[in-house]
Amino acid sequence: MDSIFTKIIKGEIPCYKVDENDRFIAFLDINPKAEGHTLVIPKKQIDRIWDLDDELYHALWDYAKEIAAKIENAIACDRVGMWVEGLEVPHAHVHLVPLPSNGFYGLKKPEKTDDAYMQSVAQKISK
Ligand code: 5GP
Repeated sequence: MDSIFTKIIKGEIPCYKVDENDRFIAFLDINPKAEGHTLVIPKKQIDRIWDLDDELYHALWDYAKEIAAKIENAIACDRVGMWVEGLEVPHAHVHLVPLPSNGFYGLKKPEKTDDAYMQSVAQKISK
């Protein structure tokens, strides 16, 4: 069964895309914990990140590093943090989140996440 992220990759569900190549895609989390909260995903649907083959696993982190640099360039923050959980969507993904200097405790959810706002954030990061 296709995951919600596979449906996004297939274009069946829209997303606010930040970047894409033949193997990976990065798009904004629909429920951002902070401005610029981005999900980085291998296009191959595999539930648990530890089950990716070594080559794909390492390539995912290389790609996440590229996207983190784009986020850092676009969004004011102390650094870009990351976490991997995967309890909600069974399709391996890395969360990249711009953090203030007091880290996850200082996170502020954006006040609004309407279409215009999400589009503008994705556009800023993707430049
Ligand atoms: P996790 O599986 O790591 O616990 O969390 C999954 C994340 O995916 C959540 O932060 C949630 O907001 C996000 N998410 C769930 N469904 C969608 C969706 O349809 N589009 C986008 N862009 N994000 C989603």
